[in-house]
Amino acid sequence: MARYTGPVCRLCRRDGMKLFLKGLRCDSAKCAFERRDSPPGQQTGRRGKPTDYAIHLREKQKVKHYYGVLERQFRKYYDNADRGKGNTGDNLMSLLERRLDNVVHRLGFGMSRADARQLINHGHVTVNGRRCDVSSYLVQAGDVIRVKNRAKSLDRARAALAEVSRDVPDFLSISEGDIPEGIVSRLPTGDDVSLPVQTQLIVELCSR
Ligand code: SF4
Repeated sequence: MARYTGPVCRLCRRDGMKLFLKGLRCDSAKCAFERRDSPPGQQTGRRGKPTDYAIHLREKQKVKHYYGVLERQFRKYYDNADRGKGNTGDNLMSLLERRLDNVVHRLGFGMSRADARQLINHGHVTVNGRRCDVSSYLVQAGDVIRVKNRAKSLDRARAALAEVSRDVPDFLSISEGDIPEGIVSRLPTGDDVSLPVQTQLIVELCSR
């Protein structure tokens, strides 16, 4: 699956908030957003008041950048969310939150979503005992996410668990025994999302 490979700190500066895309660096004094929170590019001071469209677009871009998905994939999530029952914005966030790379990151096995994606793509993660190398896999309630019982896999996951401290969300439970393991106790809801975003604006934009 295609992914963004450009400089990620620019995305935080463009979106006007920390998106935590670089693992350890994000919590350090080296964070580019902490040092300079103006939008990237020249003549940024001359830009006027954002248009209504720009405000809506920015909310959508924040979510795409945060979860590391590109436009076409995002549209598929939106269409699925729109077809589902209930609030489309909550459905959308729930779908994105269920991505395996997000779950692996939120369990702490990967320092960032990009790191978690690499961990998955390189075959270091199993779901219900079977190797799963698809980072967009949507977890189900009851799924058991485990790091492969192999020195290389365990070293990477343990290093991430030791380096980055974060709260594990309510919909996941973790055991850091010999083999780090997480269980999806229920499907995530809009309240489990750690990104402050106005989903209503995204729905308004995508439904135009
Ligand atoms: Fe964003 Fe992290 Fe870069 Fe800071 S270090 S600007 S939070 S990606």
